[in-house]
Amino acid sequence: MRPIDKIVLHTSYTPEGREHDVDDIDAWHKANGWSGVGYHFVVKIDGTVQVGRPLDKIGAHTKGKNQGSIGVCYIGGMNAQDRKPKDTRTEAQKKALIDLCEGLSLTFGGLTVYGHNEFSTKSCPCFDVKAEFRDVKDPKFTMPLMHEDRVSRKPQ
Ligand SMILES: [Zn+2]
Repeated sequence: MRPIDKIVLHTSYTPEGREHDVDDIDAWHKANGWSGVGYHFVVKIDGTVQVGRPLDKIGAHTKGKNQGSIGVCYIGGMNAQDRKPKDTRTEAQKKALIDLCEGLSLTFGGLTVYGHNEFSTKSCPCFDVKAEFRDVKDPKFTMPLMHEDRVSRKPQ
C-alpha cells in the first residue's frame, strides 16, 4: 500500500436530488481522457458508499495532493435551480462520510480530512470540512468528530 496521510472530500457538482453513481463518474472522467474514476469512494444521495479507484492506486482529484491522499466524492453540491454551489448533503450522506472517514482513519492510523477548496480556489465540496472534521487541538492526528450533536441519528 502507498503511504496515505489525508482524505480529501469532493462533490460531484451535480444538481441537488439527481442521483448519480460511480459508473457515471467513471464515464465522465474517461471522457476527460483519464484512466477512469479519479475518486476512491463515491457517496450516493441515499448514503450508499461505492468503491471507485482501488486504494493502492493514486487518485486523480486534487492537483498536487493526489499523492498520499484518498479522494472521496459525494453526489450533489449544486443548487438545482440556479446551478450555484450548495451543500446538498443528505443526512444519510453526512453519516456515511463520517463513518467512511472514521473507518479509513482507523485503518491507516490517523488521517487528516480536508476539503478540495483548501487546496484550490474551487468551492468543492461546498461545506466547511475543517469545522466538521478537524479537531483544532490536534489537527495532525485527526478523527472525524463523532459527537451526537453533529450527526442527527434517527431512532431505528
Ligand atoms: Zn473537488
